[in-house]
Amino acid sequence: MKLCTYREGSGFRLGLVRGDEVVDVSTSAAQLGLSVPGEMKDVIADYPACRRALVEIEEKGAVAGTLSNLRLAPPVPNPQKILCVGLNYRKHAEESKMPIPSSPVYFAKFANSLAGHGDEIAIPEVAREVDYEVELVAIIGRRCRNVPLEEALGAVFGYAVGNDLSARDLQMRASQWLYGKAIDGFAPLGPYIVTADEVGDPQRLGLRLYLNGELRQNSSTADMIFSVAQIVSDLSRIMTLEPGDLVYTGTPEGVILGREEKVWLKPGDELACEIEGLGRLVNRLVKD
Ligand code: MN
Repeated sequence: MKLCTYREGSGFRLGLVRGDEVVDVSTSAAQLGLSVPGEMKDVIADYPACRRALVEIEEKGAVAGTLSNLRLAPPVPNPQKILCVGLNYRKHAEESKMPIPSSPVYFAKFANSLAGHGDEIAIPEVAREVDYEVELVAIIGRRCRNVPLEEALGAVFGYAVGNDLSARDLQMRASQWLYGKAIDGFAPLGPYIVTADEVGDPQRLGLRLYLNGELRQNSSTADMIFSVAQIVSDLSRIMTLEPGDLVYTGTPEGVILGREEKVWLKPGDELACEIEGLGRLVNRLVKD
């Protein structure tokens, strides 16, 4: 199943993706006499109970528009946590001239950094060295703590495509990365979430990033140093994970930072991120 959030006026609506079409979940539920929450986080938390209703809505529901003519929002617009893993692909750690980490390098972003598919993202005046990072994002499915490794993937609701945009000059100006990472709009996510049952093994997905149509990143989640299961289990040992929490699991090689000639991103650039089975997330950069 594929779920999205789209904008209507100043609010959000929940959508079910059927091919290129988006079905309006709340309107359809009312028409069909079904009970389904109207917000992504609540649907994720209630998924075992409302899955059957969603399947019926997917089949018979009212179409609100298409993925291209609706204004998509980040699929989870208001997560409690956005957790990120740095240097989590072998070849990316090498190109960054950093040692392969012996434990995961975590940092955080906040909801201000989220953007939807198709949103324009402003480069702040202060940022000079803006870079892209295509990433597999895991969406937590249930409240959990101390999840054993072998049960960790069971705590994942689904997956989406993310782009961990980074201003390298600001990221590296001190030992903590937050200043170059937590920028408004610098964590686009989407276009939708694909439920874990449809994704299968998250460690064998191809992922690619195109800058203005030119292929820049082309790798597989098989190159991750710490697997999705390891990361979820590890994080759950120190914090309660909540439905809708987002985990950006790191980027493969091919970022601008790792290139001989570093031509940083600029207003007008278009970034397209793709992950096998998860669709294509496109965003354009603009002047602040
Ligand atoms: Mn990253």
